[in-house]
Amino acid sequence: MKAIVVGAGPVGLTAALILAEGGAEVTLVEKREGLNTASRASTFHPPTIEILDRLGCAGPLLAEGVAVERIQYRTPEGVAAEFAFALLAGETRFPCRRHLEQARVTPALLARLARRPNARLRFGAEVVAVEQDGQEVRAVLAGGERLAADALIAADGAHSRLRAALGIGFPGFAYPHRVLRLMTEEDPSALLPGLAPISYLHRGGRSLSFLRMPECWRIIIRVPPDTPDSAALDDGWILARLGEVLPACSRLPRTLHRDLYAASRHLADRFHEGRVLLAGDAAHLTNTRGGMNMNAGIHDAWAIARALLSGGLAAARAAAEERRRIAAEKLLPRTDRSVTGGEGWLERVRAIAADPAAARAFLREGAMLDMVAL
Ligand SMILES: Cc1cc2nc3c(=O)[nH]c(=O)nc-3n(C[C@H](O)[C@H](O)[C@H](O)COP(=O)(O)OP(=O)(O)OC[C@H]3O[C@@H](n4cnc5c(N)ncnc54)[C@H](O)[C@@H]3O)c2cc1C
Repeated sequence: MKAIVVGAGPVGLTAALILAEGGAEVTLVEKREGLNTASRASTFHPPTIEILDRLGCAGPLLAEGVAVERIQYRTPEGVAAEFAFALLAGETRFPCRRHLEQARVTPALLARLARRPNARLRFGAEVVAVEQDGQEVRAVLAGGERLAADALIAADGAHSRLRAALGIGFPGFAYPHRVLRLMTEEDPSALLPGLAPISYLHRGGRSLSFLRMPECWRIIIRVPPDTPDSAALDDGWILARLGEVLPACSRLPRTLHRDLYAASRHLADRFHEGRVLLAGDAAHLTNTRGGMNMNAGIHDAWAIARALLSGGLAAARAAAEERRRIAAEKLLPRTDRSVTGGEGWLERVRAIAADPAAARAFLREGAMLDMVAL
């Protein structure tokens, strides 16, 4: 079996490593000269930790990632509901989530892939077109070189050139709110005693998220559509937003970094075309609340690459169709639900926490345990 994987993000690296470890001849093609080091996803859910562990690549996550053992929903006055991941013991080998920058995990995947004699790494090589027939698929690189294989996994990200080249639609929309991230070394639990490593703070229909990273806290603020970027990044605007939800906050925490990004929701019309299989951001995008999109992409890689190894192209296409069903029926609605919460959401979460069976089901869904078969 010869395979090409396009894109050395977390999804392409996972797919290429699974294929290489399974004995396929794999070429990983990446247009950048090296791995992307930007700050992006931070959250690794239990099934993703398990996949990385099985691939021998969970070392950085387990050694350096923040072990998140509880999720908290609260008001400034105190905790409204808390869920302990220990409830999932027996359902997963890793009953917790881990917080670490994705850029600190991808090097472990690459290092392991680079040790495989049957894997070729082509950094600084951009795929500009794809050709295929009954015999093979060919990735056409800038400059004209053609690479041929039996199958190609397109993990080339949200703006996937391969998806467009194959005429696969990517309908969807941008969420009206953008997302502002503040990274601070100051510990917010000085104002919010007992704050959990992932906490959602609600007050008067507004909310803030707090996420503990190894070297800092991330505070996430939703920015309304009518606020210009320059205003949203301004100290005064940020302090006013913090103060609305957390009245005890009288000054801006010292920020190491702040950035603003737009989130959107898209789903590819189909996840395969001939010998090409889509995975990761090339196939689906959601808002980042709940931290699921990268995880779902790694799950795509797991399902599709393993099916390709065990049952060839037909099995990989069936796996891709199943991944699309999971994205449509679980991933997208679930991330939407957690973003449209507000005051009523806090009441619902409080009721769920009070019922142990409902609490376990809530945690399972948030931990994506029902989204991938290991
Ligand atoms: C600010 C931010 C915060 C986020 N937070 C979270 C979070 O908390 N949790 C979560 O699950 N997700 C989060 N995400 C989303 C997450 O980062 C992505 O889902 C993840 O990176 C997708 O991985 P991927 O491998 O599919 O695509 P990418 O990581 O985008 O990788 C695609 C790769 O393909 C390469 N490429 C593109 N076109 C070509 C071509 N033609 N030829 C060769 N190579 C090509 C690119 O250079 C790139 O390296 C966040 C994203 C952002 C921007």
